[in-house]
Amino acid sequence: MIKANIITETTHYIECPYCHKSKERIDHLFEENTNRKETSFGPWYCDECGGSYEGVVRGQDVFIKLNTNKRKDDSLVFLRNGNVLLIVKGMYFDGDLDKGHQEYFYNEHTCPTNYFKSVEMVVDLKTGDTDPHGIFEYVDAIPYINLKEMNETEVHKLLLSVLT
Ligand SMILES: [Zn+2]
Repeated sequence: MIKANIITETTHYIECPYCHKSKERIDHLFEENTNRKETSFGPWYCDECGGSYEGVVRGQDVFIKLNTNKRKDDSLVFLRNGNVLLIVKGMYFDGDLDKGHQEYFYNEHTCPTNYFKSVEMVVDLKTGDTDPHGIFEYVDAIPYINLKEMNETEVHKLLLSVLT
């Protein structure tokens, strides 16, 4: 046996000033701060209560201001491709669902990989099945490759070899 190296790390968070349930990591601002007098951040929104705050980091001290006129809430967004309906968890700000922005965000702005991790339900609209096992049909499995490091041509070449 060989002796393992132990890594000890300290992380710094600030607690939500409204509900005291969530925390946001703050250390990266300590580091940014070394050449400057202070670094400002925010507005940040609490994942638990939706409360908003912003602030400044001076050295290792953090000062915050509550934005009581701002907040973030969760939404359910319905996205369709053919007979497959995805219900994903989304968000909106300051009580304004702003459906025009939501439509732009999901139809044009965001990459599908961003919301696949927020899928709450998959529905087969042909049958009404809300737990449609097999709606995504198995094609093949290969050893892991980091697709994000491949260009589109390489990805297409890989897909051709998998799909044919
Ligand atoms: Zn909170």
